[in-house]
Amino acid sequence: MNFEPTEDQKERYLKRLLSGEGVICVGMTESEAGSAVTDLQTTATPDGAGYRINGTKVFTTHAQYADVMLVYVRFGPGVGGIGSVLVERNAPGVKQGRPSRFLNGEEWVQTYFDNTCVPPENVVLKEGGFKKQIAGFNVERIGNTARSLAFGRHAYETARQWAMQVMGGMGYTEETLVEYCSRKTRGWMIAGGSIEILKNRIAEGVFGRQFSQRPPKA
Ligand SMILES: Cc1cc2nc3c(=O)[nH]c(=O)nc-3n(C[C@H](O)[C@H](O)[C@H](O)COP(=O)(O)OP(=O)(O)OC[C@H]3O[C@@H](n4cnc5c(N)ncnc54)[C@H](O)[C@@H]3O)c2cc1C
Repeated sequence: MNFEPTEDQKERYLKRLLSGEGVICVGMTESEAGSAVTDLQTTATPDGAGYRINGTKVFTTHAQYADVMLVYVRFGPGVGGIGSVLVERNAPGVKQGRPSRFLNGEEWVQTYFDNTCVPPENVVLKEGGFKKQIAGFNVERIGNTARSLAFGRHAYETARQWAMQVMGGMGYTEETLVEYCSRKTRGWMIAGGSIEILKNRIAEGVFGRQFSQRPPKA
């Protein structure tokens, strides 16, 4: 993610995480701040050189296994008041509820912060850091899209192979709508611009340049 860890944070956390020895989780969502994440209410109140964290996070994947949590907090009001801190899971004032599972099998647990002390060196982004932090999710969003496409494709191909010629001879006669749909659809893949040419048109829009209408020469 596109955060700005200090050299000290990299040394203390990143090494362990990248080597697979440690687990981190992201505590962003709250019961009243899901899609509207900027409504989050977990506060970071100045206390000496550091901060005291108070609030509750839900849906945090793998929170019960994490050594450290990246917690979205509010240093002040509004979107501009949001930043983030690293909280050790076993720090005083951190409590967790009963683990639960998402449909995909991954586990999550509700986490409570009750006056949890965070030293200044565990602040990742201070107030004003929200936009930068949320942009880190673009990586996850692209990954989720690619994974969904791949899984969907696999499910579709498996189903398709299982069901060939599922209608037998009947599917090849004019007695069913299926053969009609197949014939008509095949034509619409060419009429009005073949799918290859239409893909070129989309690419022209994306890349802002023109592609030849002629097929490449052998
Ligand atoms: C598998 C999984 C893993 C997760 N892991 C984490 C994690 O590690 N850390 C973490 O912090 N959170 C995690 N989450 C929580 C996730 O970020 C939230 O579930 C998500 O942001 C949606 O919030 P919500 O569930 O409160 O739904 P809500 O915000 O209550 O939305 C409910 C429905 O309303 C729709 N909706 C809401 N607002 C609008 C709108 N303005 N226009 C149109 N539709 C709208 C939404 O699309 C949704 O379908 C995870 C969730 C899942 C499913």
